[in-house]
Amino acid sequence: MPHLKPPEVKEQQAARSMKRFDHRTVIVTGGARGMGAAHARGFVAEGANVVIADLLEKEGRTLADELGDQAIFSRLDVTSDRDWAATVAAAEHVFGPVSVLVNNAGIVRFGPIAETEPAVWRQVIDINLTGTYLGIRAVVSSMRKAGGGAIVNISSAGGMMAYPNTAAYVASKWGARGLTKTAALELGRDNIRVNSIHPGPVRTPMTAGPDATAAVAAQARHLAIPRVAEPEEITQMVLFVASDEAGFSTGSEFIVDGGVLLGPAPPYERAEAAVA
Ligand code: NAD
Repeated sequence: MPHLKPPEVKEQQAARSMKRFDHRTVIVTGGARGMGAAHARGFVAEGANVVIADLLEKEGRTLADELGDQAIFSRLDVTSDRDWAATVAAAEHVFGPVSVLVNNAGIVRFGPIAETEPAVWRQVIDINLTGTYLGIRAVVSSMRKAGGGAIVNISSAGGMMAYPNTAAYVASKWGARGLTKTAALELGRDNIRVNSIHPGPVRTPMTAGPDATAAVAAQARHLAIPRVAEPEEITQMVLFVASDEAGFSTGSEFIVDGGVLLGPAPPYERAEAAVA
């Protein structure tokens, strides 16, 4: 005679086998490579259907193919209203209304203010800040259809403090933080939470260029956790903030920076002497 499990045990087992984003539709901008690709993988592993939205068609399609039925690629320039409308339409058509948007696409340009061309300033603000605004604007009605959702804006430790020679980047990341708070106030009644994430140095193609590699390595040496993070470490925070586990958090900053905001840690020899 088969051993019948009591209903409460069956319920517990079913709950355990459910994943945090089962059947939810997620858009990750800049999802073709770097941190965005890690986030796309992380959401798929948690049961989501993911739209990898990026300018990089080859990388984006390759990743979508690798992830199988739970992922599609949509070509998106985050500065284009029309691209946003097409990406949200594709997400709804293939997977259903959007529950999560990760505004991750971003660029950095280096140079002192006095020597930077206004066109460079405008490009960084356009992608990092205006692109985030356009994304929020584009998904609201879809999220309302889904009954609510979570928007995660990828800012930076540079959205909490200053770095030299990256004025447009720092301004865009402070802007994304302010935008997050206003959007959170406006959208709470729609059951849409909006938060920002502030990574420290992370190993991605963005930090692999000659200017960035040196700057990031120098910064990492002085951190309380003296290393560069792997993209998957930021993904864990993104998944948490987007999930129902963070259901009472909105308009907030989630910092995952190895201690950047603490300021430089004392050199190890001195710290050991102080303890002795
Ligand atoms: P990355 O350069 O590896 O990836 C950025 C992605 O954004 C690329 O796939 C790129 O094609 C895409 N993108 C750029 N412009 C776009 C546009 N107009 N439309 C659509 N997609 C566009 O960079 P990353 O390091 O993975 O950075 C991801 C996010 O994290 C960025 O917002 C970045 O500012 C932020 N961040 C990075 C670090 C770091 O140390 N790497 C630290 C803090 C914050």
